[in-house]
Amino acid sequence: MAIAAVALGGNALIHPKERGTAEKQISRVNNTIALLKPLSERFSLVLTHGNGPQVGNLLLQQETAKDIVPPMPLDTLDAMTQGQLGYWIQQAVENVLRKNAATIITRVLVDEKDPAFEKPTKPIGPYYREKVFSNMVKEPEGWRRVVPSPKPVEIIDIEEIASLVGRGFVVIACGGGGIPVAKEKDDFIGIEAVVDKDYSTAKLASQLKADLLVFLTDVPTVYRNYGKRNQNPLYRLNRRDAQALLDAGEFKEGSMKPKIEASISFLVEGGKQVIITTVEQIGDALKGSAGTIIE
Ligand code: ADP
Ligand code: MG
Repeated sequence: MAIAAVALGGNALIHPKERGTAEKQISRVNNTIALLKPLSERFSLVLTHGNGPQVGNLLLQQETAKDIVPPMPLDTLDAMTQGQLGYWIQQAVENVLRKNAATIITRVLVDEKDPAFEKPTKPIGPYYREKVFSNMVKEPEGWRRVVPSPKPVEIIDIEEIASLVGRGFVVIACGGGGIPVAKEKDDFIGIEAVVDKDYSTAKLASQLKADLLVFLTDVPTVYRNYGKRNQNPLYRLNRRDAQALLDAGEFKEGSMKPKIEASISFLVEGGKQVIITTVEQIGDALKGSAGTIIE
């Protein structure tokens, strides 16, 4: 069966205003996974997911309890959220789709010479009243840590993922964009950074030779003139259209831009199709009647 790599965006797992009890998040995961049925009937699935709200909560717990329990570094917190969300998704895939599932704690190789390390851009965790870490920026709500967001060079654990996919497992991988690690001499070292899940999902899809890459997010399509009065949906694009719109600055840094850049590199590396839509509309998008399709 052809392979589809499917990235689950923020809203698939938690809503911005929710407290995020386990019960609520698990129920969202179950609903999301149920809506993947049409995809799971046509493709072997590899699922990736974001971890922003979950790792944000863990960072807050580290800070609040730091005098009692030693705080863990960001790469370790990434691994913790991969386990947490992987477990919930795994249960949902087995209970709802009745398929075997496995979670792979996934490391993503980053290059220490990546220019992102000179200019940290990704805000993480809670707001503080004072500057308590060296890597902080002042936002209207207070001080916040910012970490670099380097590009993934390769998915280190690709062989394990590929062999499980080959044996019919639905694999959950690259949670939170993967745990960034760098190579120092012959060893891998965890890094305090965040890899955008869109780039790592596209890299994973290319390395698996997937046919389809799906970004499930909180907008039904990609738009031209997004947020303006003349906003209009883009239903079908080819790679060159997508590149031209990207060059024209139609896609916002840190949200839609990484998805489009990732889509283009997936197609350049041999992928056949990309779909960007919501979980609710993925069934229709597969039939060609919803979402943004890039070929
Ligand atoms: P995810 O968790 O799925 O990665 P993001 O917030 O990173 O979610 O990306 C989706 C968001 O991208 C949308 O909610 C929307 O606000 C934003 N966005 C920016 N530019 C566009 C565009 N041109 N068309 C559609 N959405 C856009
Ligand atoms: Mg995003």
